[in-house]
Amino acid sequence: MTDEPLIGVLALQGGFEAHERMLRRLGACTREVRVPGDLEGLDGLILPGGESTTMTLGIAREGLAEPLRRLAAGGTPIFGSCAGLIMLDRDHLGLMDMRADRNAFGRQIRSFEEEVELSGLDGGSIRGIFIRAPWIAEHGSDVEVLGSVDGHPVAARQGKILAVSFHSELGEDDRLHRLFLDRVAEARLEHPHGHTLEGAGRRVR
Ligand code: GLN
Repeated sequence: MTDEPLIGVLALQGGFEAHERMLRRLGACTREVRVPGDLEGLDGLILPGGESTTMTLGIAREGLAEPLRRLAAGGTPIFGSCAGLIMLDRDHLGLMDMRADRNAFGRQIRSFEEEVELSGLDGGSIRGIFIRAPWIAEHGSDVEVLGSVDGHPVAARQGKILAVSFHSELGEDDRLHRLFLDRVAEARLEHPHGHTLEGAGRRVR
């Protein structure tokens, strides 16, 4: 096991580069994920913001939905931001027991920045950048809401999956990425060889 975790960032569309920059600044190795084979050996995965319809089409075109579900089922930590949160909901990849409302704050007028109190995050509130952001309209009991804006959940966790409505990869505050990398470090103690496409035993890295 190398020291740096290998984090995949779904790179079909959207704001994947800012996530990669932040991850590398925090000492992680990154890999752009475009096809199922790119999931081999990953210790964690980020689903970035962008446009969820386009992302859904790209995932279908590349046959990524089932491999992504297997990645989650194998216990690999996943972090989705904005459109990435939408991709995690019941109507998309179905990795979290929740339903997201797209453009929930309104299309253009409600792109805004707001301080969000997040439970489990040390150091006070985080400044969230919301760009045509979703919120979590409903969720099951396995979903833990970590923060809300105007009473609407905008950050949540279910097991090893973390989702936020805003763009935590923009700006200087890297505490959410650190939190995610802490989860990745814990998961690596359980699965030191990262995700394998074939199941246990084989690994390319
Ligand atoms: N409004 C976009 C969607 O519904 C998400 C916006 C974002 O990721 N910044 O897909």
